[in-house]
Amino acid sequence: MDLLIVGSGFFGLTIAERAAAAGRKVTVIDRRHHIGGNAFSEDEATTGIEVHRYGAHLFHTSNATVWEYVSRFTTFTNYVHRVYTNHKGVVFPLPINLGTINQFFQAAYTPDEARALVHDLAGEFDPKTAQNLEERGIGLIGRPLYEAFIRDYTAKQWQTDPKELPAEIISRLPVRYTYDNRYFNDTWEGLPTDGYTAWLERMADHPSIEMKLSTDFFDESQPLNKKATVGQVPVVYTGPVDRYFDYAEGELSWRTLDFEEEVLDVGDFQGTSVMNYADAGVPYTRIHEFKHFHPERADRYPTDKTVIMREFSRFATRDDEPYYPVNTPEDRAGLLAYRELAKGETDVHFGGRLGTYQYLDMHMAIGSALSMWNNHLA
Ligand code: FAD
Ligand code: UDP
Repeated sequence: MDLLIVGSGFFGLTIAERAAAAGRKVTVIDRRHHIGGNAFSEDEATTGIEVHRYGAHLFHTSNATVWEYVSRFTTFTNYVHRVYTNHKGVVFPLPINLGTINQFFQAAYTPDEARALVHDLAGEFDPKTAQNLEERGIGLIGRPLYEAFIRDYTAKQWQTDPKELPAEIISRLPVRYTYDNRYFNDTWEGLPTDGYTAWLERMADHPSIEMKLSTDFFDESQPLNKKATVGQVPVVYTGPVDRYFDYAEGELSWRTLDFEEEVLDVGDFQGTSVMNYADAGVPYTRIHEFKHFHPERADRYPTDKTVIMREFSRFATRDDEPYYPVNTPEDRAGLLAYRELAKGETDVHFGGRLGTYQYLDMHMAIGSALSMWNNHLA
């Protein structure tokens, strides 16, 4: 074995694929029973509808290198992601666009009129110098729209005061003064034609890649554990960075999700793939309806059944799957301390969403793995 990779998510698989293509022998371990990390999907047993097991995953990128790379393993459908949100029982389009603004204010503003209105409403804060999510949110869209669509959703999703959250989180969402309600601004977008798992399996399909599932790096009863391997073989570690160091610098805060899946005897539950729930009184943040991700599969999906998944958000304990780095000021201090510790490890390379404690989308995880391979490991 030339390289041990801990974690078979997109980061780990990209490194594995590149290393194998360069003639190296690689072993990938994952503590879950399947490959692919949070991007894993499988067909729901009774309906055959593809369900993203860890919440809806939409692929989008403007990075030509990443697009060329991923296109080696899958084609993409022409799915374009659009999200709607339910506020006080009324459905509005997201991200905040001219349609949202006009519906909210019961008006017919032109783009310039809407810009002028938001400018007046947003005067409290300058989004460029905003110190936290609340300031950036109000600076971008003004207090009334912020309070309706962002404040309570964010508080539900992050269970943290938006004043404590980094401003960048909200910069993920565009604000538009047209009726364009594409959720993403990226050049390329789509869903893998044969599903995520087929894509992930193709990346791992090489005779020099050995895959060991249900294998935990910290379980000393299995031979590829931390004690037995670090210093003996180069390691790429994509699990949580605080767990690697046994929480020596304290626990970083993570959010986890609980998913409640239901198969319903209706052909169409909500008419779209993702409906957000903006208000504090609704306990879940959003409902996914998976058949809408693949309209091109209409002839093989049932017309009288559908699969929905409600998403609930809460703080992760050590026993939960960590999904989102919360990234409060204390967390950022803790992360710096862990980065110092990481420098002292012999030939261990920390990567991915958990290993770097960063809110990485799939294209970012893949892009940073390609950089790590090209710049450090190759
Ligand atoms: P992961 O996919 O988390 O993989 C890490 C792997 O390491 C896991 O399989 C884990 O089991 C394994 N591991 C951890 N600890 C150990 C251990 N001790 N021993 C062995 N194995 C271990 N991105 C998008 O681009 N679009 C989206 O729409 C999108 N939606 C998302 C929705 C949700 C709910 C979440 C959580 C993420 C979403 N993402 C989305 C982000 C996407 O999931 C990540 O960018 C991608 O999965 C990152 O890959 P990774 O390899 O860094 O991490
Ligand atoms: N957000 C919000 N209201 C919404 C959708 C998003 O306030 O209806 C905010 C929220 O803070 C969220 C961030 O925008 O964390 C990014 O949203 P995105 O949909 O990109 O989050 P993800 O899909 O990663 O959970």
